[in-house]
Amino acid sequence: TKHMGRNGYHFFQPSMNTLAQTQLQLLNDLWLALERQEFRLVYQPKFKAPSGPVIGFEALLRWHHPFQGVLSPDVFLPLAEKTGLIVPLGNWVVDEACRQLSEWRKQGHLEWSIAVNLSTMQFEQNGLVQTILDALKKHDVPPEKLILEVTETTAMSNPDESVRVLTALTDAGVQASIDDFGTGYSSLLYLKRLPACELKIDRAFVRELCKEGEDATIVSAIIALAKTLNLKVVAEGVETEEQQAFLTELGCNTLQGYLLGKPVSAESITAYGNKLSPT
Ligand code: C2E
Ligand code: CA
Ligand code: CA
Ligand code: CA
Repeated sequence: TKHMGRNGYHFFQPSMNTLAQTQLQLLNDLWLALERQEFRLVYQPKFKAPSGPVIGFEALLRWHHPFQGVLSPDVFLPLAEKTGLIVPLGNWVVDEACRQLSEWRKQGHLEWSIAVNLSTMQFEQNGLVQTILDALKKHDVPPEKLILEVTETTAMSNPDESVRVLTALTDAGVQASIDDFGTGYSSLLYLKRLPACELKIDRAFVRELCKEGEDATIVSAIIALAKTLNLKVVAEGVETEEQQAFLTELGCNTLQGYLLGKPVSAESITAYGNKLSPT
């Protein structure tokens, strides 16, 4: 016998374990979530090292699930990737981030940028370049204020195509950032061809930075490499003052992490905006 799924589909079997059932239910809900406007963006500030001013924000996706509360991308992004929902969802993220940026600009925060994360499938969709350019135009946002974060792994999954897409976008003025750097396997020759302006050191290297000599060596090597390639360096996951001081000393340009600012709603940034702003 089969139970009826929420939409009348014969999805669930009693023999399935709870985890699989939860995943299926989530999958069911996910398709409706975009339509029901259950997604929100939160924004984590990026600071000029060592401690300010705020130079921009990274947009991070949250799903306000009707019964399960606020869900993190780790819970639903893999499902969204598997089903292809990531493409319309990712396009929504780009549009919403541009809309927010335009709102902040109207409030006088002309120096702020917004970074959005692009998943592999989204990055490989046809028409991504046009979708992004359309969103910038629709919200009247200068392209230089939009940063596209692409992980090293995404960029490497189809290297020539990545160079082509990022070149088209950076030619139009958009900025590109290589995310989670150090966890993938990019060759130096390839890195040189990528038209990125910054590189984000993965949190894994920052986490144990002060305790372990090995991570400090890796981080300084990454920074040296970045400087050679004319890339700015962002350190993410900064949680302690020791990390903040050490990363600054090593030459990181930008710091991001719970110590300096957690991801928060656009409304709370707007409320504190005048305090965050330089001048
Ligand atoms: P990411 O791009 O590497 O983003 C950084 C993650 O680390 C975020 O988790 C952020 O909340 C968290 N974080 C920031 N500072 C700290 C810190 O000091 N300590 C710790 N422990 N964590 C910190 P989040 O928001 O759960 O996002 C997880 C991942 O989901 C992101 O990793 C990114 O890969 C993906 N993601 C988030 N939003 C989007 C989106 O709109 N589109 C796509 N394609 N992926 C997204
Ligand atoms: Ca990111
Ligand atoms: Ca990252
Ligand atoms: Ca990550």
